[in-house]
Amino acid sequence: MLFSSIIGQDEIKGRLRQAVADNRISHAQLINGPEGCGGLALAFAFTQYLYCHNRNAGDSCGKCPSCVKCSKLVHPDVHLVFPIALSKDVRVSDNLLAEFREAFLPDPYLTLPDWFGSIGAENKQPVIAVDESASILRKLSLTTFEGGYKTMIIWLPEKMNVQAANKLLKILEEPPEKTLFLLVTENEDQLLRTIVSRTQLIGLMKLPDPVLSEALHQRHGSSPEDAARIAFLSDGSYSTARRLMSENESAALYLRLFQQWMRACLKFDAVKVIEVIEDIAPLKREKHKEFLRYTLGILRECLVMNYASDTLVRLQGEELDFIKKFARFIHAGNCERFIDAINKASAAIERNAAPKMLFMDLSFRANELLNIPLPV
Ligand SMILES: [Zn+2]
Repeated sequence: MLFSSIIGQDEIKGRLRQAVADNRISHAQLINGPEGCGGLALAFAFTQYLYCHNRNAGDSCGKCPSCVKCSKLVHPDVHLVFPIALSKDVRVSDNLLAEFREAFLPDPYLTLPDWFGSIGAENKQPVIAVDESASILRKLSLTTFEGGYKTMIIWLPEKMNVQAANKLLKILEEPPEKTLFLLVTENEDQLLRTIVSRTQLIGLMKLPDPVLSEALHQRHGSSPEDAARIAFLSDGSYSTARRLMSENESAALYLRLFQQWMRACLKFDAVKVIEVIEDIAPLKREKHKEFLRYTLGILRECLVMNYASDTLVRLQGEELDFIKKFARFIHAGNCERFIDAINKASAAIERNAAPKMLFMDLSFRANELLNIPLPV
């Protein structure tokens, strides 16, 4: 990871580069900053810079063998500890290293919920357990492959249980030669004070709106207006910004599909219905459910518009323009059956129903329901 891949945090990057230039690298550093500000990514950029055979004043070269290994998280002198969901087979981070690389490499702003989601452990307790301390000691006792530093990156040390934290403290009190500890925390105040006092603190800030907005524009091609709006809602977190952006993109896709689908269903234009189903079917099962939830949301807004007040409608922009025209088709005479049909479809998806059949059935049902006249 290059320093240039890290959004903002220029002052801190400068300090880290200077420390390398002066050869005054503190052996234990605590990178503290809120979720989504890039702490872990920065730890990897710093490590890569430190090991690079060909660094310049601003960044690592990104091409030398050392940079290549660092960028794939396979450098033999760089070790990594992260929270895991303990099980019979998973006792230390190394048991999930391959999975971690797979999750982190495409997404260096990975959050803990993202990481746990990627291993299907959403409902489990993230922990760094005591077995990890023995593993850390063992790794630090190895000789280095390239004769320089051994680095131990510990992501979210606040997830260490008491025994693990006490053992880590012992290691920090008597660190092996040429060892660099980079502790990346989101909650410095949840760490043992004695650990914090053994480290040099690197405080990361939330990303300022203009920095975040520029990154969204540059990296994702968001329009300046979208980028500014999302940055405003993201409270300085790139991870939040990206999630909002993907929801934004999904909403745009779902609106387009829903519009085409309902138009095709109204008069049952079979060719068009099939075209829309061909667009929907290849999406993942989660997306099918999300699309149906979106559909329910639109129906709800139509009812609000028809029976409450326009001012209570939560939608804006294109979606609002659409429901202003569509709302007249959703009324007391059909809404209950419509909602019921969608809920049943959603439950069928849960049970692995074939999507093409399911959306075709739902299209027939929608045709029937949309043509029920408004009760007088
Ligand atoms: Zn290099």
